[in-house]
Amino acid sequence: MDRQEKRKAKAKISGAQIADGLVEKIAYAKTLDALKAAVMAILRFAEAHPKYINRMNGLLFETIIIEGSQYLPPNPTQGKNVVFIPPDAAPIVMIPAYIQISPEADIIRDGLKKLLIKLNEFSGPMEDIVTEDEMNAVLDNAQSRFGIMDIIAPKKPLKIISFSNSHSVHNCECGMAAAPGSREAVIFVYHPRDVSMCGRVFIFAHEIGHALHLALTGDVDIIPDKFDEFNEALGVDLGALHLKQEAFADVAAFAMLNGNGLNRHLPHQLSDSMLECCDKFIGYVTRNHLNP
Ligand SMILES: [Zn+2]
Repeated sequence: MDRQEKRKAKAKISGAQIADGLVEKIAYAKTLDALKAAVMAILRFAEAHPKYINRMNGLLFETIIIEGSQYLPPNPTQGKNVVFIPPDAAPIVMIPAYIQISPEADIIRDGLKKLLIKLNEFSGPMEDIVTEDEMNAVLDNAQSRFGIMDIIAPKKPLKIISFSNSHSVHNCECGMAAAPGSREAVIFVYHPRDVSMCGRVFIFAHEIGHALHLALTGDVDIIPDKFDEFNEALGVDLGALHLKQEAFADVAAFAMLNGNGLNRHLPHQLSDSMLECCDKFIGYVTRNHLNP
C-alpha cells in the first residue's frame, strides 16, 4: 500500500466511524431537540457522503428496533395491558410510529425527512401534562366498568408515550399500527396547549375514546354500531364524519370519567341524564364487542 492508498484507507475508516457515531446520537437522544439535531446531522452527512447511506440505513434499523424495545416488557401485566413510556425515552420510541422501519425501508432519504417535518411541529411545554396516576385512574375505571382495555389492547399492550413538549395542533394524539393477528394502540401524550375548555384528564380520556373507536371498527371512517341512532335519539345532527369521530371520543370519555371519583373531570354543563345516556351507549358497544 503506498502513502496515498494508506491515506484513503484511513479516510474510509473515519468516514464510517462518523456515520456510526451519528446513528448512535439517535439512540442516545433524550429530548426531541437532541433527536432533531441528530436527524439533521445525519441528513447533512448523507448528502455529502452518499456512499455511507446503506451502512447507516442498516445500522439505524437495528438501533431503532433494539433501543426502542427495551421499554416494552415481555409480559405486560394482565388485567391492564399498558406500558407507560417516559419523556426521555419518547424520542427513540416515537420513531416507528411515524416512519416505516423495516430492512427494505429507505430510512434516511425517506424516513428521516418525514420525521424532521414531524419534529418541527413541537414546541416547549405549555400547560401541565397528565400524570401517570391520573391516566391509571381513567384506564382502571374504563377497564372495570366496560372492559375497554381488553378491547383496545387484546394482545400487544397499549403504549402511552409522554413527551416533555407541546404540539402545534394537538393536545394528545392516538395511533394504531395494524398487523395480521395483532394490533398495537399508541397514545401520544403532550403538554396541552390550552386547558380552558377541558382539562388534561378529559383530554386523555377523549384520546382513549379514539383508540376505542379504532379498536371497535378497525377503521376510524367506520362509525361504531348504532352511534347515528344514539345521536338521533338525542336530537343531535352531526353531519360530517370528523364531527362524528370527535363526538364518539367525547361520549366514550364521559362514560370513562363517570364514577370512581373521576366525575370532577367532566365538563360542568353535562347533565346527569346526558351522562346516563352516554354510559348506556358505551356499555352497549363494549358489551357487543366483547360478547358478540
Ligand atoms: Zn379528538
